[in-house]
Amino acid sequence: MTKRVAVLALQGDFAEHETSLRQNGIEVMEIRQRADLQKTFDALVIPGGESTVIGKLLRELDLFFPIRERIAAGLPVFATCAGLILLAMHIENDADVYFQTLDVTVRRNAYGRQLGSFCTEGAFAGMAKVPMSFIRAPSIESVGADVSVLSEYDGKPTAVMQGNQLALAYHPELLADRRVLQWFLHHVCA
Ligand code: GLN
Repeated sequence: MTKRVAVLALQGDFAEHETSLRQNGIEVMEIRQRADLQKTFDALVIPGGESTVIGKLLRELDLFFPIRERIAAGLPVFATCAGLILLAMHIENDADVYFQTLDVTVRRNAYGRQLGSFCTEGAFAGMAKVPMSFIRAPSIESVGADVSVLSEYDGKPTAVMQGNQLALAYHPELLADRRVLQWFLHHVCA
């Protein structure tokens, strides 16, 4: 049973993730510095935001390698948008890469020409009409053999899972529908 979830709270929409976790009866703790990793937690959320900023802070605060190690060892991870970029093995249009634990190739800021933000709805893991909010979202250009695709938009994957990692190009935490988070708690954290 997942009781306590850590939210990476360096930059981005971590507060919205915290609210949605609490609404599902989950105890929340924040990871802001190295000492926070000594606490016990059952899963990790990597929020949306700016992947370059979060990646830089992870390195500066000496959080990068210990978190990468935990993910590689099987810690359940729920990542949205910038979080997906941070997990990706390859980033087509960025000189940097981050955790590289998720076997996908992403392209940053790939949707939308002007504001780059829109809402749609679609199927997620067999559930119909799940609302999806895209904000300067990355596209998933290709996935490795061990990666399952849970939702798609415009012919491309928008939610993927590989073992303990669930990563989305969109932001369920910004909307009232909590089914994607509940799916993570039941299927990935189980
Ligand atoms: N465009 C951001 C990036 O490249 C991601 C946007 C988001 O998390 N909503 O990191």
